[in-house]
Amino acid sequence: MKIVVGLGSCGIAAGAQKVYDEIKNQLKARGVDNKIEPVGCNGMCYLEPIVEFIHEDGKKHTYTKVTTSAIEEILDGIFQGQPCEKHLIDAKQGDKLYKQNRIALKNCGVINPENINEYIENKGYEAIKKCVKELTPIQVIEEIKTSNIRGRGGAGFPTWFKWNVAMKNKEDQKYIICNADEGDPGAFMDRSILEGDPHAVIEGMMIAGYAIGAQEGVIYVRAEYPLAIVRLQKAIDQARELNLLGVNIFNSSFKFDLKIKAGAGAFVCGEETALIASVEGERGMPRIKPPFPAEKGLWQKPTNINNVETLANIPWIINEGGKAFADIGMANSQGTKVFALTGKIKDGGLVEVPMGTSIREVIYDIGGGIRDDKECKAVQLGGPSGGCVPKELLDTLVDYEAITKTGAIMGSGGMVVMDDTTCMVDMAKFFLDFTCKESCGKCIHCRLGTKRMLEILDRITDGKGQPGDIELLEDLGNGIKEGSLCGLGQTAPNPVLSTIKYFRNEYEKHIVDKT
Ligand code: SF4
Repeated sequence: MKIVVGLGSCGIAAGAQKVYDEIKNQLKARGVDNKIEPVGCNGMCYLEPIVEFIHEDGKKHTYTKVTTSAIEEILDGIFQGQPCEKHLIDAKQGDKLYKQNRIALKNCGVINPENINEYIENKGYEAIKKCVKELTPIQVIEEIKTSNIRGRGGAGFPTWFKWNVAMKNKEDQKYIICNADEGDPGAFMDRSILEGDPHAVIEGMMIAGYAIGAQEGVIYVRAEYPLAIVRLQKAIDQARELNLLGVNIFNSSFKFDLKIKAGAGAFVCGEETALIASVEGERGMPRIKPPFPAEKGLWQKPTNINNVETLANIPWIINEGGKAFADIGMANSQGTKVFALTGKIKDGGLVEVPMGTSIREVIYDIGGGIRDDKECKAVQLGGPSGGCVPKELLDTLVDYEAITKTGAIMGSGGMVVMDDTTCMVDMAKFFLDFTCKESCGKCIHCRLGTKRMLEILDRITDGKGQPGDIELLEDLGNGIKEGSLCGLGQTAPNPVLSTIKYFRNEYEKHIVDKT
């Protein structure tokens, strides 16, 4: 029997490290040598600390919200063959994992992220082996094209297309960058993947490197993710020790190595050109495109940048085939999408669902519905760059185009749920305040426009709003979208514009009632 304890950041915050240590101590005191291992988060953050007993026949006993004081009783029950009911997961909660379709998260909460052998036992590094031994770079890109995976960082751009442009470039030196600068309030998909399955991201980068002809990779990860950085570094070191990095991989002519660059916490560095400037040691500010990074990126060399979730899907696509991925989901949005469920939701955490699942199913069937059984008012999708989807549109499907039609965007996967007590003007102000502070200041529309919008929102929520303020917000918002250089400014007004679109009455009420 193997024992695993969820030791992602969410588990550790809930006390899982103490639980892990206590189980170890008690196993020692009982003179048993069962294997106990850390795993990443399985997505059920609301049930942490989670301890699983995995028996030889594959059966599991999963205990949730485990406290150190409960461990003795739990271990007594397990070793006596009569598992205690206290803290045992109920079937309804357990079923939620099976409602999902886990590709990017398949190893999270399952394998020990600090042990490369567990990744290898789960088909790890088979996909890169298949690439270098059986496929040409063009065939790899064809497989990615068949899967039609679109970038999971927010823009939804076809991954194969970016790879193809970089591959066709004749330069000798090329780079792969993994964008792990996840900065949206309420988003933690990338952190969880890096903490729970770092090798999948590394293998995804190796495959991308092979496809475009890059020899070096950089993982740009926020410094605020210390556990992800530690686990990534361990994973890189272990892959090097096994000659999977830094040498000719599987005795082929392909050689690839990578390093981590910790970002300093600027949201704008999620934008490709700002990220590249930051890696080069410059201030992280976007620049005009073209040239695009695929032509002139890091150190002026062709560079392909993909997000963490996109890369984590790549080994699965190569192993199972692009068609298997494309068979999941919708006509133009294939595969699965990971969401971070937060806000006024009962069961907050990470979920991975097939494209085509409705937002309502995510919130009610997997997220358990609204806290205190209140009514859902809206969902903010895509963080500060996104927009709100009102409760009347909860049947909208998880599909890039369907979500864009509502005025929101798929974004990287932040899903902040609001109940009927949430003031939508306050909510919009919160997100605009964030982007206003994070503006790099390069363009006037973004630097000053967001400030002026914020001043108007401040006076509206202070009960000093004036007739015409809503129109002024719309005017400014549309101007900022048109006049800004990068995605941060182009999307900053979205939370305000989408709440005006669906909740104009709340803005009017603030102005009329002076509250
Ligand atoms: Fe900087 Fe904003 Fe201009 Fe982007 S839009 S370059 S964040 S000022």
